[in-house]
Amino acid sequence: MSTSASAPTLIRNVAVFDGTKLHAPQDVLIDGPVIVAVGPALGTPAGAAVVDGTGRTLLPGLIDAHTHTTDTEQLRRALLFGITTELDMGGTPSVARALREAARERDDLADLRIATTGATAPGGHPSQLVALGLLEPFPTVSGPEDADAFVAARVAAGADHLKIFIEDGAAIGTPMPLMSAETISALVRAAHERGLRTAAHTLTRRSARLAIDCGVDGLAHAPADGPCDDALVADAAARGMFVVPTLTSLTGATGTPVEYALIDDSLLRPYADPRWLKEIERMRTEGPGEVRVGPVSVDARYAADAALRMFEAGAPLLAGTDGAGGEGHPTTHGISYHGELALLVAAGLTPAQALTAATAAPADAFGLDDRGRIAAGLRADLLLVEGNPLADITAVRDIAGLWRRGVPVDRTTVPSERLVRP
Ligand SMILES: [Zn+2]
Repeated sequence: MSTSASAPTLIRNVAVFDGTKLHAPQDVLIDGPVIVAVGPALGTPAGAAVVDGTGRTLLPGLIDAHTHTTDTEQLRRALLFGITTELDMGGTPSVARALREAARERDDLADLRIATTGATAPGGHPSQLVALGLLEPFPTVSGPEDADAFVAARVAAGADHLKIFIEDGAAIGTPMPLMSAETISALVRAAHERGLRTAAHTLTRRSARLAIDCGVDGLAHAPADGPCDDALVADAAARGMFVVPTLTSLTGATGTPVEYALIDDSLLRPYADPRWLKEIERMRTEGPGEVRVGPVSVDARYAADAALRMFEAGAPLLAGTDGAGGEGHPTTHGISYHGELALLVAAGLTPAQALTAATAAPADAFGLDDRGRIAAGLRADLLLVEGNPLADITAVRDIAGLWRRGVPVDRTTVPSERLVRP
């Protein structure tokens, strides 16, 4: 697998969404792994491949700010749908490291940043997944005195950021032990001392309040157990916390997942994982089967309302799916992200704001300063689409060209690769 393009590529006369703003048609030159020039009427270097951008829009590669990535097939699927970077929010360290390494080497996979093991109390969420065989046993945090060693161990395990679970089980249906405010604050301090950003699992208003008060950098879900009061919204925004609403996965818990509609879109369907597609069609016909409902129900509409209000008050909003590989859960890598973008626009973001949530905002929130924008010197993770996604967000599904680190992604061959877990 080549890791750099052999000849420069000039994308000519293309509307450019640079991560925050749309610019009139101009030229963009890629050489090797980077964008080398952006501007009107650039010269064509000798031997350059020329791509006509007329009637098309060039965007930074999309970033999924909340995934649980467990095999290279998921990274392959994500890339086919225009997602060039995934931010993993918790999993088994050896698996996560091997996947990040594979993504460093290969240009047919989305790039990956990892949390490794998330911080939780002994017996806390997601310990229940160990019993189900979905997670390896993992270390936990008993009190503030454990925080420094826990974070040091995450750094040693290769974590790029720290995930903190704030889940008392209310949103899941089983009471679970929760870390104290002192412990969470100590984890945040230990992470910041080592240059790690922190993201908290917060499905309820109570857990979001705890995250805000403990100085966590962002909410990996928007609270979904009821309407947020104004103080919660204002405090999250005042602290500059990012919020990842994960509307796709919340909608997926309701019995009417957004994926039921996505699979009928002829621009998306051919690129979906055939095994996943079969399962979604079965669920759509027969229903999702046993649905677990906790004492506190979560509703994507509350999350959308909370995230939009936080955004309007100044909090960065990031697009993320919570896509995983679990059986019976419809949210997946790649295709579900296009559902998230549509849900964000339906919730009240403009398409431009949704596209910033998909590019520049997650890059800024996680310190990925080599990507998320279109500018000379940045990594050539680029998505070329037909039409204008700032007028119609679903235009971002109509992919005419895709580059990962400057290497064109071949979307015509869709291998059904399922690699062995490391
Ligand atoms: Zn998650």
